[in-house]
Amino acid sequence: GKKPKIVVLGAGYSGMMTVIGLQKQLQYNEAEVILVNQHPYHYLTTKLHEPAAGTRHHEAARVLIEDVIDPRKITFIQDKVKEIRPKERAVDLVNREEPLTYDYLVIGLGSAPETFGIRGLKENAFFIRNIDSVRMIREHIEYMFAKYRNEEQRDEYITIVVGGAGFTGVEFVGELVDRMPRLCREFDIPREKVRLISIEAAPTVLPGFDPELVQYAVEYLEKQGVEFRINTPIEQCDEDGVILKGGEEIKAATVVWTGGVRGNHLIEEAGFETMRGRVKVDEYLRAPGYEDVFVVGDCSLVFNDEGRPYPPTAQIASQQGSKVAKNLIALIRGGKMQPFRFDLKGTLASLGRHNAIGIIGKRKVFGSTASFLKWANDLRWLYTLGGVPLVLRKGFI
Ligand code: FAD
Ligand code: NAD
Repeated sequence: GKKPKIVVLGAGYSGMMTVIGLQKQLQYNEAEVILVNQHPYHYLTTKLHEPAAGTRHHEAARVLIEDVIDPRKITFIQDKVKEIRPKERAVDLVNREEPLTYDYLVIGLGSAPETFGIRGLKENAFFIRNIDSVRMIREHIEYMFAKYRNEEQRDEYITIVVGGAGFTGVEFVGELVDRMPRLCREFDIPREKVRLISIEAAPTVLPGFDPELVQYAVEYLEKQGVEFRINTPIEQCDEDGVILKGGEEIKAATVVWTGGVRGNHLIEEAGFETMRGRVKVDEYLRAPGYEDVFVVGDCSLVFNDEGRPYPPTAQIASQQGSKVAKNLIALIRGGKMQPFRFDLKGTLASLGRHNAIGIIGKRKVFGSTASFLKWANDLRWLYTLGGVPLVLRKGFI
């Protein structure tokens, strides 16, 4: 018969894991697999705070797709998905007249910033989203430091506001702290002139995380000169900075929004039922009502036994991808699918290159131990993608 056609959208953690799983398990000619991604590379979202702050080159955070896929098993199309039409089993791409059709679709298009309709945020803030967006942040910070020297020395040029102190915000601030001494030397600016302000709406930094570890992180970052403003939601953002609830204005030439994420807008537009842009998938990670559409990673919503949604992470995304690959193989070979269960190994968040906090199993870790584990984690992902050669090429930049 005809070979089943599998189309995977997005080469993030979930999509890459699906494709890697398929290429390991599929025989040649058992299925046609197409991977669609808008860039020719996969990027490690989990490392984007580093190139954003300029502490590491962005080459460390991306991997060429053609370097890790087997072209005899996977066809890669570099293009941008324009529309998903699940009822017609078709996907429209920006640069292709003919729609892509499929027997099975895997959607792993990741997330987009959630701005909660806050006025001026989309127009005036920066986002830690992909390689292109973090290059803008690094360049903008440097430009503003140069401007501070070259023009009238206005404090807002060297004031950086980070909106939202979840994991992304805290990890980014941790990198900024590492970058500042060198950056200040480069631009002849005294370090104490620079303001790094982390603004959080909730009553605590990293809401929901272990209080002892949160305290460790806050104390460390404050010692490095970070100002935390908790309990103070940002209500508006404009060219001059941000306005907080209650009306206080903070002038800052650089505002980076790390206030949360939602599913890719293409999910909603495809007509799936969504919560914050994410599909509440069934136990096999399928979109309700569609036996041939799997949704993985930040586009999907999976609930734990207490009925609470798991936060979107690379960890769950890659486990989902791996499970979908196995289940697709089962479907193709006439076998039985297995339900997805998330196995939380732990959580690790960096505070710059030499410090971190985390929980592994039931154990709390911090300092250089946590930092080492975080680094080992990134290496493990590189190993999964491309074995030892990729670890050696990317892991030590
Ligand atoms: P992504 O990895 O975001 O990939 C989506 C892919 O789809 C991208 O390649 C994108 O280019 C592509 N795409 C999007 N739209 C289109 C389109 N229209 N057409 C074609 N291609 C498209 N999680 C952890 O578990 N541990 C961590 O330590 C951690 N650290 C993080 C640090 C930062 C700074 C950030 C921002 C996130 C972090 N996360 C972490 C969360 C984690 O990165 C995400 O949950 C994870 O990337 C989700 O994987 P995904 O496959 O759903 O999407
Ligand atoms: P998040 O939703 O986890 O955190 C956003 C923060 O912004 C929250 O603390 C929220 O209270 C705050 N906020 C919202 N509106 C605000 C406002 N108006 N003013 C001020 N603060 C406001 O988002 P994130 O940090 O980008 O993380 C997204 C996902 O990625 C999460 O699931 C997270 O677990 C995961 N992630 C994990 C890691 C890690 O494991 N190391 C790192 C980064 C992200």
